[in-house]
Amino acid sequence: MDVAQNIQKLEQSIAGYAQKAGVLRETITVIAVSKTKPAEAVAQAYEAGYRAFGENKVQEMLEKMEELPQDIDWNYIGVLQTNKVKYIIDKGIFLIHSLDRESLAGELQRQCVKKDKTVDVLVQLNISKEDTKSGVYLEELDAFMDKVAELSNIRVKGFMTIGPFTEDEVEIRNVFAQAKKEFDRFATQIEGFQYLSMGMTNDYGYAILEGANMLRIGSAIFGNRIYK
Ligand SMILES: *Cc1c(COP(=O)(O)O)cnc(C)c1O
Repeated sequence: MDVAQNIQKLEQSIAGYAQKAGVLRETITVIAVSKTKPAEAVAQAYEAGYRAFGENKVQEMLEKMEELPQDIDWNYIGVLQTNKVKYIIDKGIFLIHSLDRESLAGELQRQCVKKDKTVDVLVQLNISKEDTKSGVYLEELDAFMDKVAELSNIRVKGFMTIGPFTEDEVEIRNVFAQAKKEFDRFATQIEGFQYLSMGMTNDYGYAILEGANMLRIGSAIFGNRIYK
């Protein structure tokens, strides 16, 4: 596994898709998903120029935060258990990508108030409705966004979604296109609403073509994981 080489290859590929989509490479942020990988692997990606990393376990993220440079933007991309919020709220996380339920919003607000903080989040959309996936259904989205808007310490900066578990291009792109449509609708309504996080190792090309400006990529950078 050569992280620098993987990144070089990935960057060429992303640049190609960006060109095809008619956007500048610089408008797309790569979140290097370092879950299950050691701090040394993160350090290699950091050396290659990446500054945004993604984790899906609270403890693992906190450990890496301690060990690695201060100027890293840490992104929490996994299901966030309500009882873990208190451990991360004052750690300066860049973005939580997975606000997926009211109880989590409530706890984020409570802990933020307690510690006099604000938190930046993405609302996770469950468009393909696979039951292994979390996220807000589109038909519940407006009501959910209204509820979160009442929570003064939570800033919704965009949407996150995970593509459907299929290789079918049309199906995947259709899901991403729906996310983009919702993104555009709210971007005109909410100040600072700017990130559309979609696309992983197997589908980031389609995500770029459908308007993603934040990709969450693990395996293509760090190699396969033994545990997901
Ligand atoms: C693991 C994970 C990724 C990265 O997956 P790869 O297929 O390795 O690129 C992206 N998003 C979420 C939510 C993940 O859990």
